[in-house]
Amino acid sequence: MFDVLIIGGGVAGISCALVLGSARNKHFASDKKIGIFTHQKSSNLQEALFNNAYGIPAGTLGSTLLLESTKQLSEQYPHVLQLDNEKVLRIEGIAGNFRLTTNKTSYNTKTIVVATNSSVTFNIEGLMHFVIPHKKAVPEKNRIQLENIDHLVTNGIYVAGTLSGCRSQLAIAAGSGAAVATDLLTLWNNGIHSQVHDSIK
Ligand SMILES: Cc1cc2nc3c(=O)[nH]c(=O)nc-3n(C[C@H](O)[C@H](O)[C@H](O)COP(=O)(O)OP(=O)(O)OC[C@H]3O[C@@H](n4cnc5c(N)ncnc54)[C@H](O)[C@@H]3O)c2cc1C
Repeated sequence: MFDVLIIGGGVAGISCALVLGSARNKHFASDKKIGIFTHQKSSNLQEALFNNAYGIPAGTLGSTLLLESTKQLSEQYPHVLQLDNEKVLRIEGIAGNFRLTTNKTSYNTKTIVVATNSSVTFNIEGLMHFVIPHKKAVPEKNRIQLENIDHLVTNGIYVAGTLSGCRSQLAIAAGSGAAVATDLLTLWNNGIHSQVHDSIK
């Protein structure tokens, strides 16, 4: 049983995983089992080139970020399980006991973060009734989002990145994933607001 499974290894999903992973020494997070589906074939990053994203050297390719971000996650936080090359097809169950089916197998998890981007090809069974037209993209682009309040779709299911309804900029998607991570940390810390900082002191 996972405590959380993150669906999507793009900007928002990896950002969420990095912040959750970084909390491994916190008493309320140290026993948590965290996994991320690092499927990347349909990431917006595949064709992107970045000159305007905070902290990223100008000229960086999205395809480079895809490789480097999973490497950073596995080197810094190896306890976060990366499930690559698996596509999530279906979600069933309720908060505390979801069953998540992929093209290869199935997993049980207490909570879920969906970070699969705002493409209209979204087709995860069990979530389709939350799909609405994207509120911050031009209609001609035919983008979608999941209905949510401050990233919470329904009890136990969070959405992050462009699928949450934010505009498509790397920094916004990354912030959205990090925001969901701190919501989960706060949940695990019995509602006490939580964040994770490293310091040179
Ligand atoms: C060509 C292009 C150029 C861009 N240039 C810029 C720029 O210059 N500056 C800027 O700030 N932003 C830019 N962007 C936007 C930026 O890349 C996106 O805003 C950002 O990647 C969105 O992050 P996300 O996490 O929502 O989605 P993504 O990064 O696309 O991640 C979604 C992930 O979910 C995975 N996934 C999808 N379905 C499933 C499933 N069923 N199961 C498991 N995994 C799944 C995908 O493979 C992918 O890895 C550009 C985008 C494009 C397309």
